[in-house]
Amino acid sequence: MQSITILSNILIKSLFFSIIFLTTLFAEPSIIIKNNEKIENFKIFVYEDKTNKLSIEDIKAIDGFKITNNNISNGFTNSNFWYKLSITNKSTQKIEPYLKMTESILDKIDFYILSNNIVIKHKKAGVGYFEKNLSNKLERAYIKVELEKDETKTIYIKISSLYPMFNSFQLMDKTSMDTFEHNYKTIYAFLIGSLLSLALYNLMIFFYTRDKSYIYYVLYSISFIIWQTSMSGLYPFNRFLDANFYYLIGASIPALVAFLCFFTNSILDIKSISKRFYFLLNFIGFFYLILTFWSILNFKPAILIMNATTSFILPLLIYVGYKSYIKGNKIAIFYLIAQGSFLSMATLFSFSSFGFLEYSLLSRHGIIVGSFIEMILFSLALAYRIKLLEEEKIIIIEKAKDELEIKVKKRTQELEESKKRFEILANKDYLSDLYNRRALFEISDKLISLTKREKTEISLLLFDLDKFKNINDTYGHKIGDEVIKTFAKLLKEKRRKSDIAARIGGEEFAILLPTTKLKDAYNIAEKIRKETEQLQIEDNRLNINFTVSCGVVSLENETKFDALLVKADKKLYEAKRAGRNRVCY
Ligand code: GH3
Ligand code: MG
Ligand code: MG
Repeated sequence: MQSITILSNILIKSLFFSIIFLTTLFAEPSIIIKNNEKIENFKIFVYEDKTNKLSIEDIKAIDGFKITNNNISNGFTNSNFWYKLSITNKSTQKIEPYLKMTESILDKIDFYILSNNIVIKHKKAGVGYFEKNLSNKLERAYIKVELEKDETKTIYIKISSLYPMFNSFQLMDKTSMDTFEHNYKTIYAFLIGSLLSLALYNLMIFFYTRDKSYIYYVLYSISFIIWQTSMSGLYPFNRFLDANFYYLIGASIPALVAFLCFFTNSILDIKSISKRFYFLLNFIGFFYLILTFWSILNFKPAILIMNATTSFILPLLIYVGYKSYIKGNKIAIFYLIAQGSFLSMATLFSFSSFGFLEYSLLSRHGIIVGSFIEMILFSLALAYRIKLLEEEKIIIIEKAKDELEIKVKKRTQELEESKKRFEILANKDYLSDLYNRRALFEISDKLISLTKREKTEISLLLFDLDKFKNINDTYGHKIGDEVIKTFAKLLKEKRRKSDIAARIGGEEFAILLPTTKLKDAYNIAEKIRKETEQLQIEDNRLNINFTVSCGVVSLENETKFDALLVKADKKLYEAKRAGRNRVCY
């Protein structure tokens, strides 16, 4: 990469110098001015003083001046550059043209006006001459040249600069100069004002959303605005306490690169794509923050390092943007167009400030236009991001809703199942697996009213195991339970589907027989009684038998089940009294 930069440097410079050589052949050493006109495309003599020591008197005697065009682009240099031109007034009256530089960021400029080879005027301009207690206005350096009719004056200009030296001379009358200043400031004020309002707008969004992308954008654009405002001598960076205050402003350049890296990481969410690039961009960001502070302390080395490294950072950012785009990040397309526009212009500017390219309108002012497009696209990307986040939020909410629905469904199902289980438990007797007393009462009342309505019959069998206490006492409670279970099993086998069999007490059972007459009910009861006699329970090879008594009733005038049950209990009592193991009705 570095070798490519060096190679392109050599190529461009050799091309540049061959053009200079050719133009030397048609050299025009002095400018003829006829009226109050504006002259920009003229040739000028240049001499590079590498010693930095020569005075105007030394320079006057020097023969080494070469002719060059008016697009000065000397890069970073420690040399003093001397420029020489002479102006002849060929108009019919006295004129007072202004010789003026197009840039205001040059460090030290000394104008010398000579008449008959004698210095008659010396004017200092430039940031390097800023001193306390002076007005220190940042402006494009100029000098007024007074020319009588047919008079020729020679002007020497010495330039030494910490900054990359690129500039151009203009010769114009006072009105043209004022118009130029006015137009220049209007255009820059418009561009910078627009960037400033975008920055403020996004600052508001930051306060509202607390999304870091916005604050990085704001810091990035504010750094850029400070840089461009100070370079153009626009308010408030048009007056300075002294030169050091002006150099402070230069710190905005590494700062803007730092914030651009942080902004990229944040808006493209690089962390999710590549941890390596995320750390690299963060590293560069912090390195440039250090450069920012360093440039405040010592401007030149910091700015040199910055210029040498920036040319790698912009392509890197484009690559990262491309990677993000490939991974499906929709915002990356805005980012890529934005960076492409800025990169092309920044490259022109950088090449021109390094002296690889001629100073031109595009190389000088392209960067603010490129940046203007970039900032608008970044703002669009930020706005689009809100839309994407909104969509994402909706998807998340929908997903959460679906999940919740599934959960609620599942929970409802579980509840229903446990309710059923609970209902079964509540209606069933655990030992006999028959209906319990409560269930029988509930069902019976309904069946009785149905029977009444349909004018059919319903009968009730009430069983009580005989001398059950004895069984418990003789064989134990466990065997007693076994007897209950065995008898219940018999009831289950003997009942019809429509019959309701229940255990209503310790060893008391009931069967409700819908649509059954008393006589038929009696027969069923008798059958059960007989089969009970046959039942056997084994205990230590001992066979235990037991019997049951039963009362049988049918529904007559009763409307409630308890009345029917009382009637059945009476019949059961009769059976017990009559000697047990029998059915009474
Ligand atoms: P009767 O022929 O007059 O009905 O005599 P009985 O001994 O069966 O009458 P009683 O009502 O005096 O005794 C019932 C006994 O049933 C009393 C109680 O200990 C027993 N018992 C009640 N519920 C259970 C039970 O769930 N398991 C067992 N093993 N015994 C029970
Ligand atoms: Mg009993
Ligand atoms: Mg009993």
